[in-house]
Amino acid sequence: MEFPQYDVLIIGCGPAGLSAAVNVTIRNKKTVVYGGEFCSPKLSKAPHINNYLGFWDVSGEELRQKYLKHVEELGIKIEYNKIENIYPMGNSFNVVSKGNMLMCTAIVLAVGVQNPKYLPGEEELLGKGVGYCATCDGPLYKGKKVGVIGYSREAEEDVNFLADLAGEVVYLPLYEGLGNIKESVQVAKEKPKSLLGKEKLQALETEGETLELDGLFIIRETVPPAKLLPGLKIERNSIWVDRKLATNIKGVFAAGDCTGAPYQLAKAVGEGAIAGLSAVSYVDQLNKAEVKV
Ligand SMILES: Cc1cc2nc3c(=O)[nH]c(=O)nc-3n(C[C@H](O)[C@H](O)[C@H](O)COP(=O)(O)OP(=O)(O)OC[C@H]3O[C@@H](n4cnc5c(N)ncnc54)[C@H](O)[C@@H]3O)c2cc1C
Repeated sequence: MEFPQYDVLIIGCGPAGLSAAVNVTIRNKKTVVYGGEFCSPKLSKAPHINNYLGFWDVSGEELRQKYLKHVEELGIKIEYNKIENIYPMGNSFNVVSKGNMLMCTAIVLAVGVQNPKYLPGEEELLGKGVGYCATCDGPLYKGKKVGVIGYSREAEEDVNFLADLAGEVVYLPLYEGLGNIKESVQVAKEKPKSLLGKEKLQALETEGETLELDGLFIIRETVPPAKLLPGLKIERNSIWVDRKLATNIKGVFAAGDCTGAPYQLAKAVGEGAIAGLSAVSYVDQLNKAEVKV
């Protein structure tokens, strides 16, 4: 089967990701941007921006629209889907989004800052019955009992996917206004408290009961970078980068809030440009090396 292939995959469609995309595209490299449904919620919430050169008292929403227009003019493709897993494969990466695979040579992580409050037991049981990607690991639970904790409506797609293959699905939505959930799904309107089990998940403790489960999926709006790409070096809660914005993993660059303070637009846009150009140089070097061989 043929998967879509890109020179540079950009993860995140905030100021950092879009700035990277512009620079990669201008250097004639094939790219795609993956992002949340709205690019970006953080930028649109900034009421008056007075520290971004040339744009006195601009609102974040005005800038957001200008950014999107800019990338549209350059023909840059934005896929409004979350990236769930990255698998390094030597000189390339296989990447999964909503169960679909794509391949790329370099990656720019521009995923913003995230401070997920892990549930007690979650980190210890990750990969031992607990997962973040239902379309990746769901088939392991064919005919079994699984739980899903959803932090936004986005999780409903995963719930319905699991409803078709698991024996029983219990859904704990942590947001208002439930959408279209299949009838076979049991909806529990309780807050999760902790995950129980030592070598393997055994149960989820909620405010009202203890639910015995074979598997549990926790679907947040974003995936923490170190879970997206195991082995990624994190320092003081931010992705470690050098001056070229290279991470500790060959071919992976990072930009914007995810690399640490100051959490500012100008830094995000500047770093996006550097990370994009560094990714382009990396791809060029690899191509040259392949031609020599
Ligand atoms: C209320 C408020 C006011 C602010 N005011 C100012 C100001 O006046 N001046 C200033 O300079 N800055 C201000 N900021 C900060 C500024 O908005 C941020 O620094 C900037 O948005 C960071 O850009 P970013 O691209 O790094 O991250 P973000 O804008 O957070 O974008 C990250 C993107 O990555 C996406 N993403 C994350 N994980 C994944 C994944 N696994 N797959 C696909 N996509 C993913 C998210 O959906 C999001 O769209 C303000 C912020 C807020 C919240």
